[in-house]
Amino acid sequence: MTGDIQQVLKRTFGFDSFRGVQADVVERVMAGKPTLAVMPTGAGKSLCYQLPAVAREGTALVISPLIALMHDQIRSVEASGIRAASLTSADDNREQTLASLRAGDLDLLYVAPERATTDGFRRLIERIPLSLIAIDEAHCVSEWGHDFRPDYRLLRPLLDAFTNVPRLALTATADARTRADILVQLGIPDDGLVIAGFDRPNIRYHVRPRDGLPGQLKSLLASQPGAGIVYAPSRDQTERLAETVAAGGRSAVAYHAGLEPQIRARNQAAFVQSEDMVVAATVAFGMGIDKPDVRFVAHAGIPKSIESYYQETGRAGRDGDPAEAWLFWSAEDFARARRRIETEVEPERRPDERERLNALAAFVETAECRRAILLRHFGDDPPATCGNCDNCIDPPATVDVTEVARKLLSA
Ligand code: ADP
Ligand code: MG
Repeated sequence: MTGDIQQVLKRTFGFDSFRGVQADVVERVMAGKPTLAVMPTGAGKSLCYQLPAVAREGTALVISPLIALMHDQIRSVEASGIRAASLTSADDNREQTLASLRAGDLDLLYVAPERATTDGFRRLIERIPLSLIAIDEAHCVSEWGHDFRPDYRLLRPLLDAFTNVPRLALTATADARTRADILVQLGIPDDGLVIAGFDRPNIRYHVRPRDGLPGQLKSLLASQPGAGIVYAPSRDQTERLAETVAAGGRSAVAYHAGLEPQIRARNQAAFVQSEDMVVAATVAFGMGIDKPDVRFVAHAGIPKSIESYYQETGRAGRDGDPAEAWLFWSAEDFARARRRIETEVEPERRPDERERLNALAAFVETAECRRAILLRHFGDDPPATCGNCDNCIDPPATVDVTEVARKLLSA
């Protein structure tokens, strides 16, 4: 890596060194090579396009699926003196943004795929020197991914209209099939794939059958200091859980998409600043929230898929200090999820969704190392035991079938 890049890293972003594959990815983008970076949540994907956006000539276009994500990022890079803006229905400074863009005064421009794929937008950026095009949350491009967004599919013509502009796709959660699909859909050659290991060694995984959740949560919280997230499947349940936790003397707030925006913002801000608060939330909570010291994530019911589980638990312990992930499940969760697949999912997507649910069931029911199951799902090749999950620390009693058979035969 050149000294210039190291200087930008230090001066603009305040970091002494790259973490993991960041250096590879940044180097590729600086050299103009198309790249798909698969890096776990918290690994620092944003820097992989923000740094080249600063170091290369022109404006970087960032395709992002959520306005809230864009605004969080803009706030964070502006604090580093980077010039960034978004063009969305929620931005009322459109004229100012267009003027800055035309004047070459923007390092980063964030847009949603719906806007990026319009003719009007194409005409706008045809006259602007672009430093790169980043496609964040790139698993949205794949039907195999866990969060398919049809508009991501329409990005290819835009990318191909700017053949000289390096393209960088980024995602945290993509199994082998999803990765292959992203490469094809976005026109990135196979050798453009950079994968970071998925292991989050400081997270300790625990899985328990649900058996009186309020009581289970109470004993969990009694021995669990620090700020934490409890994911619940419904809005009502987040409010009930927040009340239960608060009644037990721990500060707690609820978070879901049905709350007034001001209340949501206030609850989020309180949680981010707190050192011991619990937020009981639906999955609406988490994306784009930069709180490195979340000490635990608990699931009051099963997540949507093993990918969602990885992503949601990945919000714990981003600072590298020990953190806990707790999953409380019941057979009814799986029965309900199966019913949903058979009644609400399009028939052609059902086999894939069944497979995802089965992967989660295997993770939940295993007597083997949880981490090994999780990492194998993402294509890593982990050791058989990790020493830092419930099954490794306290192996479940299993019936020794060969022993039973021997006794039966010798009887
Ligand atoms: P991701 O998008 O991969 O989940 P982010 O880009 O949000 O991760 O980064 C996660 C955190 O890591 C942020 O707080 C960011 O400032 C920090 N970070 C990124 N790169 C570095 C680095 N090289 N050194 C130290 N901290 C970093
Ligand atoms: Mg990110």
